[in-house]
Amino acid sequence: MAANVIYGKDLAEELRQEMKQEVSTLHEKGVHPKLVVVIIGEDPASMSYVKGKKKASEKIGLDSDLIELPEKTSEKELLTLIERLNNDSSVHGILVQLPLPDHIDDQKVIETIDPKKDVDGFHPINVGRMMTGQETFYPCTPYGILVMLKRAKIDIEGKHVVIVGRSNLVGKPVGQLLLNENATVTHCHSRTKDLRAHTKQADILIVAAGKADLITGEDIREGAVVIDVGVNRVDGKLTGDVEFESAKEIASHITPVPKGVGPMTITMLLHNTMEAAKRIHSVK
Ligand code: NAP
Repeated sequence: MAANVIYGKDLAEELRQEMKQEVSTLHEKGVHPKLVVVIIGEDPASMSYVKGKKKASEKIGLDSDLIELPEKTSEKELLTLIERLNNDSSVHGILVQLPLPDHIDDQKVIETIDPKKDVDGFHPINVGRMMTGQETFYPCTPYGILVMLKRAKIDIEGKHVVIVGRSNLVGKPVGQLLLNENATVTHCHSRTKDLRAHTKQADILIVAAGKADLITGEDIREGAVVIDVGVNRVDGKLTGDVEFESAKEIASHITPVPKGVGPMTITMLLHNTMEAAKRIHSVK
């Protein structure tokens, strides 16, 4: 039987409607959550992401600013800008679009953002808080996956989650979030021997490798939940890391690419910005 397709796009829309209401309640309390996105250079993919983030913010009533800086911006200039945003009480969320040009140290930039405004959840303090199960900002893609599983009423506790990928952006944090939910978590990566032997054991298989069609129906256990995080461009078309057609015949649930995990990522960024404002102004 063909799998249920989990459309992140529809879930994201539902969540954004809920957030729009909440933002309007915050406005009544005098709190105006604001996200500032900083982009350096003119990479078209990054530019399209940041414009999408600004548009999505405005649609639910968040204030937002997009600061576009030239490729030659020095590290010092960027760090000074971040300090200014840290000290600006009208700003609640700061996001610096990665990757940055080679002459700027990503980690230094991430560590300069005030952890209270780190709505991407990449600051080591926030990563540590996530590891120890404390209140923090979760990185947006992993958080989107968690919310998507919950909204789709997929049981996580006691389930074997196999993750293909161990990046700091997706693989590691999604594993941590699901471990916090009492899943048993296995990470696979490029040095894993016999990938299929692992993926076949998954109750929930999360694929974040960035390799088109790495996983096919033959790599999946009957009835598994398959979350495809990959975004690859093949012959001008967006495609995931999972071969959708063969996988959907074996899985119980599957996310498509596009319209799957992607829209949830931006939604959780909006959520984190709203949360940042609530925490900074001590409102519920
Ligand atoms: P990344 O930093 O390149 O990490 C890829 C991971 O996959 C690494 O851990 C790598 O192993 C592993 N891997 C690569 N090839 C493999 C193979 N053949 N077998 C097993 N493991 C393999 O990528 P990322 O930032 O995590 O992103 C992963 C994918 O998700 C990309 O397609 C990206 O575009 C997409 N993405 C989507 C969203 C969204 O919102 N939809 C957000 C972020 C990322 P090693 O560690 O050994 O190198």
